[in-house]
Amino acid sequence: TNQQAYEETLHYFKGDDLAARVWVTKYALKDSDGNIYEKTPDDMHQRIASEVARIEKKYPNPLSEAEIFDLIKDFKYIIPQGSPMTGIGNNFQIASLSNCFVIGNGTNSDSYGSIMKIDEEQVQLMKRRGGVGHDLSYIRPKGSAVKNSALTSTGLAPFMERYSNSTREVAQDGRRGALMLSVSINHPDSEDFINAKLEQGKVTGANISVKIDDKFMKAVKTNSEYQQKYPIYSKNPKYTKTIFADEIWKKIVHNAWKSAEPGILFWDTIIRESIPDCYADLGFETVSTNPCGEIPLCPYDSCRLIAINLYSYVENPFTKEAKFNFELFKKHAAYAQRMMDDIIDLEMEKIDAILAKIEKDPENEEIKHTERQLWEKIRKKTLQGRRTGVGITAEGDMLAALNLRYGSKEANDFSVEVHKTLALSAYRSSVEMAKERGAFEVFDAEKEKNNPFILRLKEADESLYQDMVKYGRRNIALLTIAPTGSTSLMSQTTSGIEPVFLPVYKRRRKVNPNDKDVRVDFVDEVGDSWEEYIVFHHHFKTWMQVNGYDISKNYSNEEVQDLIEKSPYYKATSNDIDWLSKVEMQGAIQKWVDHSISVTINIPNEATEELVNQLYIKAWEVGCKGVTVYRDGSRSGVLVSADDKK
Ligand code: UDP
Repeated sequence: TNQQAYEETLHYFKGDDLAARVWVTKYALKDSDGNIYEKTPDDMHQRIASEVARIEKKYPNPLSEAEIFDLIKDFKYIIPQGSPMTGIGNNFQIASLSNCFVIGNGTNSDSYGSIMKIDEEQVQLMKRRGGVGHDLSYIRPKGSAVKNSALTSTGLAPFMERYSNSTREVAQDGRRGALMLSVSINHPDSEDFINAKLEQGKVTGANISVKIDDKFMKAVKTNSEYQQKYPIYSKNPKYTKTIFADEIWKKIVHNAWKSAEPGILFWDTIIRESIPDCYADLGFETVSTNPCGEIPLCPYDSCRLIAINLYSYVENPFTKEAKFNFELFKKHAAYAQRMMDDIIDLEMEKIDAILAKIEKDPENEEIKHTERQLWEKIRKKTLQGRRTGVGITAEGDMLAALNLRYGSKEANDFSVEVHKTLALSAYRSSVEMAKERGAFEVFDAEKEKNNPFILRLKEADESLYQDMVKYGRRNIALLTIAPTGSTSLMSQTTSGIEPVFLPVYKRRRKVNPNDKDVRVDFVDEVGDSWEEYIVFHHHFKTWMQVNGYDISKNYSNEEVQDLIEKSPYYKATSNDIDWLSKVEMQGAIQKWVDHSISVTINIPNEATEELVNQLYIKAWEVGCKGVTVYRDGSRSGVLVSADDKK
């Protein structure tokens, strides 16, 4: 039963209740009656290893099942995230292994038909487990003429609510569908878009991000006018609107300060740096991102994610002898890239199963047709590019374990070295795979030769570049840094490239108030009930143990504070690091990540709008592709600072 699995898993995680609950409710293999077929994550890792090994055997120099198991066991080195973790070898669900999708109509038609088609495609994908993003910039602005009974159009804002509601309808076994809606700042309705979530209870099922171009940023800095257009960026627009860039900018900053949205996508940076956009003529033009922003995608492309746990490469953590094992890391980065490529083959089998299911459905042909077409488009794009999402988690713990203070220059320099190493190893692995397995279908060295990311690789490793030109590459784009929200709970580390939230904090868990034995500590503004409990960050405890502090003792608040001050997490938490230096770190790391980086800058409740303004401008200047801020208390989140309990 659920309870037995939970108890065994609690033992596996050495009493970490949150990790156990997350694994049992979201990732353990179960059927639609709720029967659980895996006792602990070991069973899950066995299931994944056996499937990945089956694919490896198709190709030269295969990794064995035992080798793969050792890489993924205990979330120690390589962690297939979310969809691959649940989906690989899972025959109870007919689902995709993709964490991320983007859709969009290639025709730029904004007829009701195409708007509804996106709605349908969105739910079809969500019900197969992926997060979905799409861009609304193609919808004509409010007040423009239409030749139907309405006479004028409503603009794009009302459609946000529609897509948001569709998202809320789709459940994903313990998870909910996740949606990204984006719009270009060049669109005349972008201000409505930016304000759409201000009213409480509106568009709660979507993340929203505004795509900002360099021209707009320059207009902000010089306090000048900016022309919005429809169709966006058109030379012969049907509709134009002249605005003061600074006025809209202030609204973006205000809303982000007030309610954490909209997020920002620096679109010119994304496109300029994107390798897939070198293949725009073949349908690889990036239009939006997945829900958390780390994977910019073209319509009907998808991406699967793996995270490498950086903490595990630190030998003698938290001691004077602490050292990062670069050799092991390089080797594993190459394996992670191979496993990602194997997972694409597994995904092909899943898509075939979805297509077979559609054929068997007692549904009429017209309806089947839309769904079938959707999956066929995704299948085609996946094979054309074989895109992968190799990322990391535990950057913050890695730095602390090496006695580097997050946000310091030494820490930032070290992080860049790690991400550069990762990029070069993953690209090397993809080139080796091209020799053994063939390059991605549309590979063309000529098309990519001026891409800034490719040029950076070339400068760092000329022989890698020459081999790439000669043999090709297996994957169109390889790297990312995802939020690793639930991944990091199970690896018991800091998430993504984030610093530790707090070494000691309170956490909220959504509960059903009608269940018996639940404690409701908090009811949020939409009426959901939450339970709260105190958590010690896992590797803060490791630090305590290494330094001879008793972790079973009950420490007073003052004692806890004293411990924190002695630890390498002091002044290195999301609430007290130097945020501008964090943005600089993100920009520097971005140079070695070909997709994007999901980042939330956590700032204290009393932080000003001016700080948000500075952080955003800095992010643009240092080459970040996107950024979001979260001001403590601006939304009812799951993490609560320890002070709130007093
Ligand atoms: N995602 C999703 N639903 C969720 C959480 C994540 O669709 O509830 C997708 C989404 O595209 C997101 C990506 O998975 O950007 C990665 O999220 P995260 O790194 O937090 O994944 P996790 O660690 O939970 O697997």
